[in-house]
Amino acid sequence: MQAIRELYKAGRGPSSSHTLAPERACKLFTEVNGTFPYYEAELFGSLSLTGRGHRTDTVIQETLPSETKIIFSLDWEEDFPNGFYLSGFDENHVLQKKWTVFSIGGGSIEIKEYPVSYNKEIYKEHRFAVIRKLLEEKNISILDYIYGYEPDLKEYLADILDQMIQCVDHGLHSEGDLPGRLQLQRCAKRLFEETNKDPLIIKNDLRIMSYAYAASEENACGNTCVTAPTLGACGVMSAFMYYCAKDRRIEKERLIDALAIAGLFGNLIKTNATVSGAVGGCQAEVGAAVSMASAACAYLMEEDIDQIEYAAEIGMEHHLGLTCDPVMGYVMIPCIERNAMGVLRAMDAALLSKHMSGIRKHLVSFDMVVETMNETGKMIPIELKETSEGGLAKEFTHGI
Ligand code: SF4
Repeated sequence: MQAIRELYKAGRGPSSSHTLAPERACKLFTEVNGTFPYYEAELFGSLSLTGRGHRTDTVIQETLPSETKIIFSLDWEEDFPNGFYLSGFDENHVLQKKWTVFSIGGGSIEIKEYPVSYNKEIYKEHRFAVIRKLLEEKNISILDYIYGYEPDLKEYLADILDQMIQCVDHGLHSEGDLPGRLQLQRCAKRLFEETNKDPLIIKNDLRIMSYAYAASEENACGNTCVTAPTLGACGVMSAFMYYCAKDRRIEKERLIDALAIAGLFGNLIKTNATVSGAVGGCQAEVGAAVSMASAACAYLMEEDIDQIEYAAEIGMEHHLGLTCDPVMGYVMIPCIERNAMGVLRAMDAALLSKHMSGIRKHLVSFDMVVETMNETGKMIPIELKETSEGGLAKEFTHGI
């Protein structure tokens, strides 16, 4: 399993698979191969079908140093739903170098012709059950386990936490329209102001949802957000961490540990299933984010390791089958609202795990639900996996 720091990355929205991954690939292409006077990027699968709405073309053109032609194709020979060819040419447009890039989710990339160093395996264990057994055998905590593999993770996560908080803060103080043809307005600030009108319990929920709107609207605007595990789903973890830091005043050290634990569960999902909407639907993005936030919340509620696992399992289980159908290819409808719902579901999952675990032993394990998510993702039709060819993307005709 890869490092947790590869799961959390700060980058420009609106989609880790469609903006952050191509940006990283283009930077690496230039670093490794030097610069060329002319480039071509040929996009396939979801990158081709929703690349315009997700600003893939703009990001590639802004990242590469010279003229770049973007080609939207559907004739992809590779057995993976999201990828592109990146080619560098000399001044006579003779091909010099060509990479086959796979955007595997959450801004991570694989390159057929060049092994990427940050994809290195760090953790030997790939299943939660195996990790759980190891903790018992060695009599160590889950945090000992994580920091044993990644001794410098705390410092990195301190910065990630700051970025999440800045992102929500900026979103809460911004107004105006989101970019693109949907002509949606930013809502986070007004939603936050609405909290004064409601009774306490609802007020709290509404405030947390306004934080998710803030992060997700920042993402929709192409501003810097944190993949957790993706940019499309960045609102869930960012909202939860913001709420814990600002409203609950939980000390930074504990929030960093909560991020580490959430990261471990996100990593298990990434390793054993996927965190890419183009591969597994939205269950792999918002579903995975809710599972991570459930684990973080359970940890902060001082639940034990079995209760934390149960929370992460609940968070994932009740998003199984969730499809990805962004209207017009923009990460706005249903994405922004879904992030807001997701953060509340994560807190519900942690509450349920805390109290249900004393009543009855839970029967579905985290590993089992991740396996189910993977299998379910394979059964979801391609029209409902970030291609904008089905679901709401097809039904939504308002203003078209
Ligand atoms: S529907 Fe979910 S997976 Fe699809 S773009 Fe929106 S947030 Fe990402």
